[in-house]
Amino acid sequence: MKADQFDSWLTVDARGLYCRPGDFHIDPHAATPRAVITHAHSDHARPGHEHVLATPETLALMAARLGSAASAGTQSLVYGEAISIGDVRLRLVPAGHVLGSAQVVIEWKGRRAVISGDYKRAADPTTAPYEVVPCDLFVTEATFALPVFSHGDAKGEVSKLLKSLRQFPDRAHVVGVYGLGKCQRLIAMLREAGFAEPIYLHGALASCCEVYERCGVSLGTLKAATSAPREEMRGAIVLAPPTAILDRWSRRLPDALTAFASGWMRVRARARQRSVELPLVISDHADWGELTRTIEETGAEEIWVTHGREDALLYHIQSTGRRGRSLALIGREDEDQ
Ligand SMILES: [Zn+2]
Ligand SMILES: [Zn+2]
Repeated sequence: MKADQFDSWLTVDARGLYCRPGDFHIDPHAATPRAVITHAHSDHARPGHEHVLATPETLALMAARLGSAASAGTQSLVYGEAISIGDVRLRLVPAGHVLGSAQVVIEWKGRRAVISGDYKRAADPTTAPYEVVPCDLFVTEATFALPVFSHGDAKGEVSKLLKSLRQFPDRAHVVGVYGLGKCQRLIAMLREAGFAEPIYLHGALASCCEVYERCGVSLGTLKAATSAPREEMRGAIVLAPPTAILDRWSRRLPDALTAFASGWMRVRARARQRSVELPLVISDHADWGELTRTIEETGAEEIWVTHGREDALLYHIQSTGRRGRSLALIGREDEDQ
């Protein structure tokens, strides 16, 4: 193993990204003896590891989502605290993606690698803001890695939702949201904008909201949509997983107006395809500008790109004089759906 050759000590094996001198995997997609988990989304936090190292918030979310299958042994590490694993130094730094999300900073023989997991640079009242860590190797996601993706200001999208609510006070506004992260961020942003009414939740969204509340993120009054009287939800905001907004579940809502909060709502065809009346461009992933700026700010000489649209970003990386490599990790999903 040579520290200068990153692919000699950080390798991809059958379970995913593996740190050889520390003998652990990062976000492995199959059960493994020692896993470091960047955040609790299901394509990063799989069940069944023997030992998991993550932030306390990520461990709490994993326990809520996976139950006893989460893992046998856990170790929590707060942001910024450094530990030694063999002769590797490791710490977790905020990634700004969802509650507890972390970049994994690994130092070995004077070289520093940062595995960012998923991240964003935009403001989010429910997570600690992204922290730039200067490094030699930066591993980045590429979910929205095309110049066409510019997420814009999420606050403006929240205003759009509130405006529609004033315009159509007789319609239940059902908003499709990803259950971990987007749901709580949208609620917190509505509260920041002064919306104090109860917000109604599909049952699948309740457990993650409870973890956020326990971790000190206040979400205001939340009610279960399933047990609420139908007429009470007229003119209310109802949040549901994307799959539920068009199925039988939403049919009992009074005169439902369908909205969807996702970075993909920038693509009009996607909104039409899902019959979304009110597309809201709100993303928990970095857009093109954030990705290229972040790569620049880390000062890394080598960039590895995971799950997403790697080609355009690799081209950009190479054209700015850096070494770029596509990391073929299996099992990553398009989680901003
Ligand atoms: Zn994620
Ligand atoms: Zn991901």
